[in-house]
Amino acid sequence: MFNKNKTYEQHDNEKISFYRNSVEDLNSQDYLLADINVDICVIGGGLTGISTALNLSKKGYSVVLCEARKIGWGASGRNGGQLGIGMRKDQYTVEKMLGLSHAKELWKLGLESVDEVKTLIKEYNINCHLVNGIMSSACFPKDIDEFKFELEYMSKNYNSDGYKFFNSSEIKNEINSDTYLAGLLDTYSYHLNPLKLTIGLAKILQKYKVRIYEDTAVENIFEKKDSVEIYTKKGVIKSNKVVVACNGYLDNLIGSKRNKFMPINNYIIATEPLGEEKAREIIKNNYAVCDTRFMLDYYRFSEDWRMIFGGGETVTSKFVKDSGTLKFVRKRMLKVFPELEKYKIDYSWGGSLAITVNRLPHFGTLMNNKLFYAFGYSGHGLALSVLAGKLIAEKINGKEDRFNFFADINHMSIPFGNLLRRSIYSTAVLYYRFRDFLNG
Ligand SMILES: Cc1cc2nc3c(=O)[nH]c(=O)nc-3n(C[C@H](O)[C@H](O)[C@H](O)COP(=O)(O)OP(=O)(O)OC[C@H]3O[C@@H](n4cnc5c(N)ncnc54)[C@H](O)[C@@H]3O)c2cc1C
Repeated sequence: MFNKNKTYEQHDNEKISFYRNSVEDLNSQDYLLADINVDICVIGGGLTGISTALNLSKKGYSVVLCEARKIGWGASGRNGGQLGIGMRKDQYTVEKMLGLSHAKELWKLGLESVDEVKTLIKEYNINCHLVNGIMSSACFPKDIDEFKFELEYMSKNYNSDGYKFFNSSEIKNEINSDTYLAGLLDTYSYHLNPLKLTIGLAKILQKYKVRIYEDTAVENIFEKKDSVEIYTKKGVIKSNKVVVACNGYLDNLIGSKRNKFMPINNYIIATEPLGEEKAREIIKNNYAVCDTRFMLDYYRFSEDWRMIFGGGETVTSKFVKDSGTLKFVRKRMLKVFPELEKYKIDYSWGGSLAITVNRLPHFGTLMNNKLFYAFGYSGHGLALSVLAGKLIAEKINGKEDRFNFFADINHMSIPFGNLLRRSIYSTAVLYYRFRDFLNG
């Protein structure tokens, strides 16, 4: 049995983001008014939950989805919009951690995750402004050799032809900043408006008769002999299986699993629109960009040519207030692009993501294969969460090999459980900030 304390309230930071203003809320008209019976109950209205519900309802299961706030309220509706292949770790490191054949399977799944999103966008005609290319940009001299190594290694061992190296003058030509020493372009990856994707997919769920209960927080999950009972203030859902898809907002809903990740708050600002001409003076080919620091900057232009600039993390349970967000993220942006000083910041917001110790996602089951979960994408969850839903649905439907490529990964707990994890992580964050400073 799991009891949830209502601590996710601490993560409230629903400032009106650029994304919220760019698309209408789903405003589901489904309400849980009495106790019900279903095949599957999904908890969490982000991309992991929505993708799980979509895949299972297509297979004929009766599915309901409970979301504590509204669809896309979590990271899926607040992120940087960088639809990257793969994990937070590079392939070479993943091979060292898991062995060659396991790493190769994860590489294939990473490619599939982006393909899956592209297929859904096309199949359901979701207008979320997909643009090709993510550029990694080098902040430190050592990155130049690392980029060259990665390019050669991936081409030799994975037959990859999706990467391209840019030297210092070439990167300056692509990204008009004095900050970077080189670049590595990944053409397998894309960027898009994530809330338009999330709400677009949720609308498809309604066509498959999935009932979506917004403002319906799950408080307890009880295991019964052949079923589970999911308790909310509005009613009890009795289901054969339950899928927990809460990522950085999970808290203690499934007990000590919270110790497998650290919830991090990350922040984004959006400028006023610059116009296409000015935007292309800054990023010539409209790529998304992320740099090589541990506390990285990531940015891109929106569909209406605003600079969407993310960076800066906090680990306290409270969000930085709006004015603070503006100040410290804007400072980071102006360091890279001083010429943006004259542009107004129209929006600033934050969101929580889940970081695991080894930076790989954590999948698993509890309650004798009646409860399924996936979290801990470590900042690389936009495509992976969609894939996670597909793999959870496969597992529930009796095909578990691909789910197990993630479930078999060993995950350390954050030491000392609830007591010291924030202070330990804060110390680590300070250490990495210092390392970024020294390397710079
Ligand atoms: C600021 C920021 C920038 C990011 N940038 C990128 C990026 O550019 N590229 C990338 O790949 N990834 C990025 N990420 C990570 C990515 O957004 C996440 O990994 C991904 O969206 C996780 O999706 P999810 O569905 O698992 O979780 P979420 O989208 O967080 O959804 C979880 C949902 O569960 C709900 N919930 C929680 N508890 C309960 C409960 N008890 N009952 C009912 N509902 C509950 C929450 O309200 C929430 O809506 C970023 C994250 C943040 C915060």
